[in-house]
Amino acid sequence: MSNQTLFDEAKTHFPGGVNSPVRAFKSVGGTPKFFKKASGAWFVDEDDQRFLDMCMSWGPLILGHVNPGVIAAVTEAMSEGLTFGAPSRRELALARKIKERVPFIEKMRFVSSGTEAVMSALRVARGFTGRDRILKFDGCYHGHADAMLVKAGSGLITFGEPTSAGVPAAIGGLTSVVSLDDLEGLEAYFAKHGAETACAIIEPIPANNGLLLQDKSFLLRLRELCTKHDTLLIFDEVISGFRVAAGGAAERLGITPDLGTYGKIIGGGMPVGLYGGRADVMGRISPDGPVYQAGTLSGNPVAMAAGLATLEQLTPAFYAKMDADGAKWAKAFEAIPGLHCPHIGSLMWPLFQPEAVKRADRIQSGAIDQFNRMHKLMLDQGVYLAPSGYEVGFLSGSHGDAEFAHFNQAVGEVAKAFSGTANVANVRE
Ligand SMILES: *Cc1c(COP(=O)(O)O)cnc(C)c1O
Repeated sequence: MSNQTLFDEAKTHFPGGVNSPVRAFKSVGGTPKFFKKASGAWFVDEDDQRFLDMCMSWGPLILGHVNPGVIAAVTEAMSEGLTFGAPSRRELALARKIKERVPFIEKMRFVSSGTEAVMSALRVARGFTGRDRILKFDGCYHGHADAMLVKAGSGLITFGEPTSAGVPAAIGGLTSVVSLDDLEGLEAYFAKHGAETACAIIEPIPANNGLLLQDKSFLLRLRELCTKHDTLLIFDEVISGFRVAAGGAAERLGITPDLGTYGKIIGGGMPVGLYGGRADVMGRISPDGPVYQAGTLSGNPVAMAAGLATLEQLTPAFYAKMDADGAKWAKAFEAIPGLHCPHIGSLMWPLFQPEAVKRADRIQSGAIDQFNRMHKLMLDQGVYLAPSGYEVGFLSGSHGDAEFAHFNQAVGEVAKAFSGTANVANVRE
């Protein structure tokens, strides 16, 4: 069956034909690809077209598709039981691996998605501090828990407004929103609301609304203000964790949060999330404490096996190579006229603006229009980019020389189509 036939049927089953909205190709246009198999950095759709994958399932596949070590570990675990609903030894093995890499995690809980990790971390932060207010940052994504689907309301220091129907205003109102890279806004917020704020949650390397790399001074000041006001600092490392360094952004930036949330890579392609950090905070979780959180499939042996087999392969040499590769691929991308490619480690963001941006409101709609045009041209050249200009590209250990050659060739063709066209105007602040 063709992509189109499948999508036509899918629309009769699922809202928009998909089980997660950005997959629907709404922003870039066209019919989503239905994939049937993959290997390394490549996957094949139902029309038997082969694509170089630059999205990698949005981050979990840092080793590439169908990594032999991961498949062997999962196969072995599966043959022994998919889930016990009771403790099993692989949970401990993965926990040990995580503690080796992320020393501030004294205690942790496995859950089944990044959203669940964030939702649970917010709950324990509130339970531990006895405060209800949460601070988040415009330009960060933390999954779809009610408290996180919030934007800044009107006024100078604001209580948030829901960005999704179905989130009660009363819930949105308990979340405050400050812009990334807004030191003044941050100071003003803490001066007024620090004492009532349970936690501040941030992607230390914001990578869900473009790649909005922050000045370290901003994150350091956030750390200081949290400490001063007994507000817990939560690093949402669902993307950056185990990707930008063994110890994630916390290690790379040298800043220690009180709690961290993880997902994507720690499941190696299986549904896993994790939250953890200070033992005194995590000690408030049921059954040790009064903060309730549970999960039927949490820590199931198959998911643990996938995570374990993934982390085992992420050596210092692997990260060094990812850093070098990220720089190389980003530079190659910039052969497209008007494209600038901020990057860190194996994350890169093709941006049609002359300079990197640090705030969500600095991304121009013209830049997104250009991205949409490029997305289709790259697809025609057999390169699958995430279907939105606000999403980053992901490299994996499977993106080697042959893949780079294919990418370069595609970029060359797209560059021809783009040359001579006007670039978007410079950003004015
Ligand atoms: C992907 C992501 C989430 C949500 O994780 P899901 O597994 O999709 O629920 C949360 N926070 C960040 C930073 C993410 O990148």
